Amino acid sequence: MADFNVRYGMELRKRASATAQTRRAAYPCPRCSKVQVHRVSNALWECRACGKEFAGATYALTTPAGEVASRLTADFDRREKEAKAKNA
Ligand SMILES: [Zn+2]
Repeated sequence: MADFNVRYGMELRKRASATAQTRRAAYPCPRCSKVQVHRVSNALWECRACGKEFAGATYALTTPAGEVASRLTADFDRREKEAKAKNA
């Protein structure tokens, strides 16, 4: 996977190779859960099975920080739903 012709150091080549792998990998779709999510362009990912597009990280579908953020928003949504159910 030497598509960027990285030079001057094994560490840089290793890092570039790891990035290329996460960029080309297929990820499980959050909507249909098939492993068909591929990178379209910078931070844009698309499921080839259901056609859904996602905004993600530049070279991977998510980052550790993105996982934390989605957990927090999921928790916020859940609490909001519970509050609405209580008031209704
Ligand atoms: Zn899908």
